[in-house]
Amino acid sequence: MSKATTSLLVQGYEVVIGFETHAQLSTQSKIFSRASTAFGAEPNTQACAVDLALPGTLPVMNKGAVERAIQLGLALGSHIAPRSVFARKNYFYPDLPKGYQISQFEIPVVQGGSVEFFLGDEKKTVRLVRAHLEEDAGKSLHEDFIGQTGIDLNRAGTPLLEIVTEPDMRSSAEAVAYAKELHKIVTWIGICDGNMQEGSFRCDANVSVRKPGGPLGTRREIKNLNSFKFMQQAIDFEVRWQIEQIEDGLEIQQATVLFNPDTGETRAMRTKEDAADYRYFPDPDLPPLVVAPEWVERVRSEMAELPRVMAARFVADFSLSEYDANALTQSKDIAGYFEAAIAAGAQPKLAANWIMGELARRLNGQDLDIAQAPVSAAKLAQLLVRIADSTISNNAAKQVFDTLWSDADAQVDAIIEAKGLRQMNDTGALETIVDTVIAANAKNVAEFKAGNSKALNALVGQIMKASQGKANPGQINEMLKAKLA
Ligand code: ADP
Ligand code: MG
Repeated sequence: MSKATTSLLVQGYEVVIGFETHAQLSTQSKIFSRASTAFGAEPNTQACAVDLALPGTLPVMNKGAVERAIQLGLALGSHIAPRSVFARKNYFYPDLPKGYQISQFEIPVVQGGSVEFFLGDEKKTVRLVRAHLEEDAGKSLHEDFIGQTGIDLNRAGTPLLEIVTEPDMRSSAEAVAYAKELHKIVTWIGICDGNMQEGSFRCDANVSVRKPGGPLGTRREIKNLNSFKFMQQAIDFEVRWQIEQIEDGLEIQQATVLFNPDTGETRAMRTKEDAADYRYFPDPDLPPLVVAPEWVERVRSEMAELPRVMAARFVADFSLSEYDANALTQSKDIAGYFEAAIAAGAQPKLAANWIMGELARRLNGQDLDIAQAPVSAAKLAQLLVRIADSTISNNAAKQVFDTLWSDADAQVDAIIEAKGLRQMNDTGALETIVDTVIAANAKNVAEFKAGNSKALNALVGQIMKASQGKANPGQINEMLKAKLA
């Protein structure tokens, strides 16, 4: 696999990326007709007269699609246009029965806004240009075995929201992080099921390179990236290819390209059309889309707490770092698990560490979702309470967690007793051990007093051993330092 480009310069060139993402909206019926949008039906069983463009049929706007667009706009801090316009985008292709696609051109419903995310621990902001409503086309089915191509119009008229960014991204890693964040948001607010294999969330990456400080280079658009892995591979290949062209003294031609996962290469499909080629004009069959402020407010009042807002609340209420809060709001399920653990008495920072550390590691190892975690949030909370009240050490807690993971009926306190994991909290008993170890290790004591702080570790180790691992390392450290000062 290729390595993500994270540094700003690749062979002295700056990478510039802008995204156009098609999110299929999760309405039951199509954007301008009442046919079903369900995936996987027999070809042409879900295409009604409107989708087939039979003469005399007229489009009727689906309110649910507009509401979903408003939701995205509110989630991303965009302006919701009080009046937007549907246009006809004219082109000829067998899977487009009308000979035009209904889309929004000059005045889209969602304008501006931004997507914020972390790249490693660096915070990034990608500005949106717009998000507009449009209908999907049908599909050509190339039936190689009979040497014919069939058309399936089930997808024709499926509602899409095309989300367009400014050319703000500077590496394939940043582009993938953006796409993952956008994917998280659309699925979180529930406007799109996010299923990339079924094509519900497909990204076009516009890629160019330039010498730092120079004007923008000519872009090529990689179409229909439907996995995060391919996205990164495709962009990395494209960047190397463009740099090679330029270094060879050739010019980049604006083009639409496809990524082939089998070869790992991008290849030009067609030279890019200009807007003029599409002869856009307002669709006379559809009145302007009017979104009254009351409608926007109603949609806002019905929306669940957004990940960004929730993360800010975690920072304010639980004193978590922005990084932790962001990690805990990667999905509704993770956030829900964290909140349930807190409600059951877990200390927030400890819960955050365990959910993103021990729990995440095991879930990943078994390819499980947090919703399938064998240890409930309430049970994890019981365990964390025992760390917080010094009954057990963090290490001992991992052993308890092991048992909880494999045995659904196991109880935290019973495991602690059965395994004898209780920490030694009796200061008198510990003091005896500490004194014994100090007396028996004169050399280490002398070294520590001479300024070798590492010698203390040897003493702590001895004491832990003598206590059969039940002493509290923090307490030992304090005691040793006091005695050897
Ligand atoms: P078009 O309407 O022809 O598709 P747009 O101006 O709408 O072109 O841009 C489409 C996408 O390409 C946007 O996401 C934009 O950010 C991106 N883009 C524009 N110019 C460049 C460039 N030079 N390099 C990379 N991406 C670009
Ligand atoms: Mg465009």
